[in-house]
Amino acid sequence: MPTQDLMDKLVSLSKRRGYIFQSSEIYGGTGSVWDYGPLGVELKRNIKERWWASMVHRRDDIEGLDAAILMNPRVWEASGHVDGFTDPLIECTNCHRRFRADLPEVAEGQCPSCGKKDAFTEPRMFNLMFKTFMGPVEDSSATVYIRPETAQGIFVNFLNVQGAARQKVPFGIAQIGKAFRNEITPGNFIFRTREFEQAEMQFFVKPGEDDDWFARWMDVRMQWHKDLGIREEKLRFHKHGPDELAHYAKDAHDIEYEFPFGWKEFEGIHNRTDFDLARHQEYSGKRLEYIDAPTNERFIPYVIETSMGVDRTTLVVLADAYREEDVEGETRVLMALSPEIAPVKAAVFPLVKKDGMPELARKIQSDLRSAAINSFYDQSGAIGRRYRRQDEVGTPWCITVDGESLEKGTVTIRDRDTLEQVRISMDQVVTWIQEQLS
Ligand code: ATP
Repeated sequence: MPTQDLMDKLVSLSKRRGYIFQSSEIYGGTGSVWDYGPLGVELKRNIKERWWASMVHRRDDIEGLDAAILMNPRVWEASGHVDGFTDPLIECTNCHRRFRADLPEVAEGQCPSCGKKDAFTEPRMFNLMFKTFMGPVEDSSATVYIRPETAQGIFVNFLNVQGAARQKVPFGIAQIGKAFRNEITPGNFIFRTREFEQAEMQFFVKPGEDDDWFARWMDVRMQWHKDLGIREEKLRFHKHGPDELAHYAKDAHDIEYEFPFGWKEFEGIHNRTDFDLARHQEYSGKRLEYIDAPTNERFIPYVIETSMGVDRTTLVVLADAYREEDVEGETRVLMALSPEIAPVKAAVFPLVKKDGMPELARKIQSDLRSAAINSFYDQSGAIGRRYRRQDEVGTPWCITVDGESLEKGTVTIRDRDTLEQVRISMDQVVTWIQEQLS
């Protein structure tokens, strides 16, 4: 499928079926900000819950945190963001559009918008942090930043969490939350936006043990994406070369996906050394050392960070799941989402709208609802069309009540991927779905 086609299809399907809408659309939208509709919010929540379960609930060496978006502005001086969180910005003197100077076409001297050659201004550094004012007075002493990453909320709470949870190094802190960057060239749907969510985990280790933990976290995180059902041949690591490494990093590997617009990062694994804690210790004047129990050895831990973009992962999941198949001469559009994260787990249909079938189907849907299994009832149109509507949004199972249901109390369950049908007893439906999901 041609590249742009797939992106266009994803954007249009997302809007039509309620995955993702442009923010403030009735006003013409707003620059690269998106809203998640009824199906999108379910998908994104399922991804986050899967991450939280694997990071926090299934481990005893990671604690959760939910730090505020607004922080003391000194945090961003200490972290290096006030001085260093910049992109080089240039303007085309012909069409006056602005671009990141490091975009490949711009580096070759041609304006990506009007095509004019060698008409760029000199680059100037542009800080990507959004600023606002705290309190009623709009002067520079009231300036606060809207966080560009969730990590700093974890660093400044390192000793709070460690003490309260009585954790010992090595241990980690996990957080999911919004981050904001005033990107110069956002785009590619939800790939690069100005408001997005990160799922980050900072793992605090003894200096010297960092390389080993780095390798372990690379494996764990890559496996997590494979277990989500993402096709392996579309995943790879990209190791940062010396000129790509962030100011704080000793080592960095991106997990990349082959999007329709090329191989791009959607999660970063970083060895941040003791940079952040040491800087916060210096700027706050508070000791942020850890005291190792038996030896009383004091040290500032090194940090291995895993930083996943939730929206980018959602795009990976959607792009990877989208299929078009030829079934008996007709195109079947299919979202082959892993059932664990599919927004709707089961759709329930009466074969026809009479003979007591709708009542039975509604009873099954009510049982599914009581078990908190997200389901959907549909009695309109031919059964084939109803199946296809569910295939297109990724519903793994369609349950149909038919004539035999009335006689024998059984229903068919159709599998989205294999199209095979099994017949089971109506009162087994909830348990059957729960078993498939476990
Ligand atoms: P990029 O090079 O694409 O700008 P980055 O290296 O600055 O990304 P990090 O600071 O390492 O990104 O952030 C970790 C993760 O947060 C990224 O892998 C990505 O998934 C997500 N992320 C970062 N910036 C954005 C954005 N503007 N929109 C959506 N997700 C983002």
